[in-house]
Amino acid sequence: MARIVMKFGGTSMAGIERIRRVAQIVKQQSDAGHEVAVVVSAMAGDTDRLVNFCREASSLYDPAEYDVVVASGEQVTSGLLAIALQSLGAKARSWLGWQMPIRTIESHSKARIDSIDGAALTAAMQSGEIAIIPGFQGISEDGRVTTLGRGGSDTSAVAIAAAVKADRCDIYTDVDGVYTSDPRIVTRARKLKTVTFEEMLELASVGAKVLQTRSVGLAMKEGVRIQVLSSFTDENTNWTADDLPGTMIISEDEMETDDMEGQLITGIAHDKNESKITLTRVPDKPGAVANIFAPLADAAINVDMIIQNVGREKGETDVTFTVPSADLDQAMQVLEGARESIGFNRLIPDSNVAKISVVGVGMKSHAGIASTMFKALADRGVNIQAITTSEIKVSVLIEEDYTELALRVLHTAYGLDAEDAA
Ligand code: ASP
Ligand code: MG
Repeated sequence: MARIVMKFGGTSMAGIERIRRVAQIVKQQSDAGHEVAVVVSAMAGDTDRLVNFCREASSLYDPAEYDVVVASGEQVTSGLLAIALQSLGAKARSWLGWQMPIRTIESHSKARIDSIDGAALTAAMQSGEIAIIPGFQGISEDGRVTTLGRGGSDTSAVAIAAAVKADRCDIYTDVDGVYTSDPRIVTRARKLKTVTFEEMLELASVGAKVLQTRSVGLAMKEGVRIQVLSSFTDENTNWTADDLPGTMIISEDEMETDDMEGQLITGIAHDKNESKITLTRVPDKPGAVANIFAPLADAAINVDMIIQNVGREKGETDVTFTVPSADLDQAMQVLEGARESIGFNRLIPDSNVAKISVVGVGMKSHAGIASTMFKALADRGVNIQAITTSEIKVSVLIEEDYTELALRVLHTAYGLDAEDAA
């Protein structure tokens, strides 16, 4: 018997038929004797619709009222799932963010969870009642509804799993696990049985969109084991607790050593949502780079890859970096505004780039990972525009048109291809 938090994403909750299927999956776990809490997303597309309503109502909407509007999507699905479970004869009730309560701090529309009182929820679960919690929402210090930022239901689920000390947090989505690469692009991609928190954190932050990055960071900090699996299974599947077929995200200690040593690279991700900015002929002197990045930081624009080229002749240098494409226009404006203090010649934007990242804890103990990447790309004529590395990741920036080719070539180069796939 285990205590499980199950989370269902927007595609799993999209419509009454889907919600009925979710109710069956939840009831199976509860019937097997497990204590169950369920965290739900709004129906797919609903949050976008609600966000657009706010924008239509006023381009300068009040974020506190935005939260009231967008949090409603999850309120609908949590109530509907409770009704669907009750109609199957299960005991179930919804627990809204303010009822638990899920206390949050910081700003509306991007609140952070401060604390969750898990006592009432735990008692309800122990009494055999299924607790259903709308994801994405909480309550501010002054008692108002808050939301956690887009994709925040994953973070709600992990935080609740930590608060009730769950054995596991199962995240049900429309893919059946974490793959070595995007299976829609790389047909030979394989589903991974296990991934470490660290790897998942890197993969999520560089474009593998299975989980919200923040939720993985929280799971790592709180030691919550996450499993990613699909809710799109047929009615006859009856999973027992221990043979669930998804991908487990666990700590490096839990990982079996042979798993780790067998594979140097765990996954290859891509991100087309970055844009490149180059400033030419920036003075090559102390403080020059600070002059560029301070105004961007003030505008809350995240800078990712940075290269400063070797100085040109007269004490000048070119600086290239990437920002999220959504912030490109604003970044250009900010830099144009700081032209005098920075002292550059030209400001060149380029949104036709993609970031390709190879990730794996096996990298820590092996040399040559990066050079395999550079060589494989060079052999296919793919030019590398920028590079960054961490202990378990190497990322390169390339022309966007080469994304698919690069993913496939690297997947083969690191020996990740499934043997019998098409
Ligand atoms: N419904 C919210 C969103 O679409 C939260 C979530 O589903 O994770 O961003
Ligand atoms: Mg999501």
